Amino acid sequence: MPRRSPAALPAKSAVPAPPNFGLYAELHLHLGGAILPNILYARMQADRHPLLRRYCTYAAFERFFTRKRHDLADYLKMHKLVESLQRPADPHLFYYVTRLVRGAYLFDNLAYMELRHTPYNRTDEALPQAARIDQMRSVIEIIAAAAASQPRYPLIFSQILCMHTALPLEVNQAIVRLAADRHLRKHVCAVDLAGPNEAYKARAGEFVRLFRLARSLGIRTTAHLYETPAGCEPRLLPYLDRIGHGIQIPLRFPRLLPRLAKAGVCLEVCPTTYLRTGTLGDYTDLREVFNRCRHAGVPIAICTDNAGLHNVRLPGEYENLLVRDVIGVEHLGHCLANSFTHAFAWKGPVPEALRRISLPE
Ligand SMILES: [Zn+2]
Repeated sequence: MPRRSPAALPAKSAVPAPPNFGLYAELHLHLGGAILPNILYARMQADRHPLLRRYCTYAAFERFFTRKRHDLADYLKMHKLVESLQRPADPHLFYYVTRLVRGAYLFDNLAYMELRHTPYNRTDEALPQAARIDQMRSVIEIIAAAAASQPRYPLIFSQILCMHTALPLEVNQAIVRLAADRHLRKHVCAVDLAGPNEAYKARAGEFVRLFRLARSLGIRTTAHLYETPAGCEPRLLPYLDRIGHGIQIPLRFPRLLPRLAKAGVCLEVCPTTYLRTGTLGDYTDLREVFNRCRHAGVPIAICTDNAGLHNVRLPGEYENLLVRDVIGVEHLGHCLANSFTHAFAWKGPVPEALRRISLPE
């Protein structure tokens, strides 16, 4: 048989390689909860951090993160502590993000990650507010540079900037404007609203104006909303592309579901969080959430929220639901596909492997 000349061989580019091999897309992950406690503690020891006086053994440090929380406000204390360990952004934050990207690619099988944070909370607390606002830009740039410094682990990476319910209006406005900054747009895909739920009612008008501002600047939006009974604020709903959590909608306000389905709003459901905050008692309490959303045509993406602090990675969140029959394999496939379809910075189609998983059994 004659040998084919090199010219007759199909060009290598005829078969496009996938951008990477990951199966999962993470849409709801906080920088304050993404890093494993053992990585935080090792760094504290290397830096001889003053917090070692309070947590003189790793066991004591780990106990702080794993103890049962009274409610969401108590749970959020973990973020406050971790934020203090992630300052200054350079070199501390840079190091943590490199470890996060490596672990997500190697061990979590992630193709895509949206990492969210409140940039103001990583600035220097000793500075006046105006100077801290100016410093926010460098936080975003350092996180982007850290992710880009890991070409071995080529997951698609973007940032969501969180406004915060405990921050003043001027700071939240600056966060929205930063998300729209033309030099940062390639690093930032959306804005979010996070923080204790108690402020939602009193400041709802202010938050509506902030989301209107974001929309007017062409920024995609999500918000921590309908996570707990205190966080149910319908006035924000018309301004959101996705909802962080939103589980109280199918559980307590199912009449809102058709409106969300029509607008194509996706819920970012983070199963382990509801157990840690005491919002739900068991993973199986989510069965009603998934069933009602499925019947109403409201898409759900399964996320971790704080994979490091929970020590439950994204594949584990899917597995926890599957083995308890909260969802079946076909539904699991739909949720996996939703996480790519509703990702703010994923440009390609849903990976082919996921299409097969979501076929009827
Ligand atoms: Zn969250």
